[in-house]
Amino acid sequence: MDLDDTPEQVTHRAQARAWLEQNKDQAPVLSGPGALQDEDEIIAARRAWQGRLAEGGLAGVTWPKEYGGQGLGPIEQVICSQEIARAGVPGILDAIGVGMLGPTIIAHGTDEQKSRYLGPMLHGDEVWCQLFSEPAAGSDLAAVQTRARQGEDGGWRLTGQKVWTTNAQFAAYGLLLARTDPDQPKHKGLTMFIVPMDAPGVTVRGLRQISGEAEFNEVFLDDVELDEGAVVGGVGNGWGTALTTLMFERVTIGLGGEGLGYNSVRFARGIAADEHARRDPEVRKQLGDIVSELLAVRFTGYRTLTALQRGQIPGPEAGLAKVTIVNGAIKAGDLIADVLGPDALDQGSEWAYMISFLPGLKSAGGTEEILRNTIGERVLGLPPEPRLDKGIPFSELRSKEGAAT
Ligand SMILES: Cc1cc2nc3c(=O)[nH]c(=O)nc-3n(C[C@H](O)[C@H](O)[C@H](O)COP(=O)(O)OP(=O)(O)OC[C@H]3O[C@@H](n4cnc5c(N)ncnc54)[C@H](O)[C@@H]3O)c2cc1C
Repeated sequence: MDLDDTPEQVTHRAQARAWLEQNKDQAPVLSGPGALQDEDEIIAARRAWQGRLAEGGLAGVTWPKEYGGQGLGPIEQVICSQEIARAGVPGILDAIGVGMLGPTIIAHGTDEQKSRYLGPMLHGDEVWCQLFSEPAAGSDLAAVQTRARQGEDGGWRLTGQKVWTTNAQFAAYGLLLARTDPDQPKHKGLTMFIVPMDAPGVTVRGLRQISGEAEFNEVFLDDVELDEGAVVGGVGNGWGTALTTLMFERVTIGLGGEGLGYNSVRFARGIAADEHARRDPEVRKQLGDIVSELLAVRFTGYRTLTALQRGQIPGPEAGLAKVTIVNGAIKAGDLIADVLGPDALDQGSEWAYMISFLPGLKSAGGTEEILRNTIGERVLGLPPEPRLDKGIPFSELRSKEGAAT
């Protein structure tokens, strides 16, 4: 038992573990011997596995039952993530859709949008992407310049560019923040839209990373037509709708250390597997430092979970979890690379992808600098930094309420 589980949670954990035991043979193998190599095959297998997890009640755990979820709390979601990691199988493919965009549609969408989009999203039949960031609007998200203009028939036309759009290359839909009224102050003239990624005028161009993968993309929008029903949360309410997404983004990434497997047990096990490293006092000391940081962040994460379970909104201190998990995992990856040498970076090694991907997470979900400044000012009460951003208060930057992407 990893958390201080209630009797119901003990049962929930046992059910999740039993389901995984019975079904894990169906999970796609993504690393090590027999790993799938072809990108299309990997995506197809991961979508099918997401569907199985949803049927087994291990995806969308916090979603209401009427939309295919379990109607349970975030603690039960983390229990499932822990059991998935323990079983050594992949989690859902569309963590952005199910973890952030689906909950935004549940909170702000129309009944029609909920009944049309949520089921296929949960089961991986339609993958989603988050069309928020732009070349000149990342931390300062409310500066988005993509324009949506309404025609006389009520429909909309979109023009602009998004960037760093994870999964856009195979997404069926995107949730997009656009400027609908340039005459309003910047946080007020925004609206959220659902965009079919195969609509005429949408072009997706992959951005290749050091890992060799092209997980995120530039997305160009050239006079893309949308109907009136594409608006989520009302015209002019885009910033409020985006804040809902950012809050769920923080929860997904900040608590995601459990699900993503960036935890002390995994790293300690990886290093202990090496005979020499196990005995080397310097390696042991470094591992001890990393493990204690990750354990501390784990217990801090449990405090955040308790707040969420009680329906409270965690404060800016939650951003600390993201900074610490990412830096702890990067240090662990460096140590593993030192211990295993070039083998750690071999394609198919358990660690290669993690080592090359993790530095990017310093930017994703609120950059490290923004989060550190927010924590300094709003948690520790330190004097404010001189502004680098023409005086935009931190409370209005992407770390809003400690949001973690
Ligand atoms: C792996 C990954 C996946 C992503 N997926 C998505 C996605 O699916 N959809 C999406 O919309 N976006 C996505 N993003 C984009 C992400 O949200 C942005 O990278 C992030 O918000 C930072 O914006 P930026 O990259 O434009 O950097 P900027 O905001 O331009 O920042 C550049 C640098 O300046 C610093 N800086 C900026 N303002 C300040 C300030 N006021 N004070 C001090 N320092 C400051 C930053 O800390 C950073 O070091 C992803 C990013 C990554 C890395």
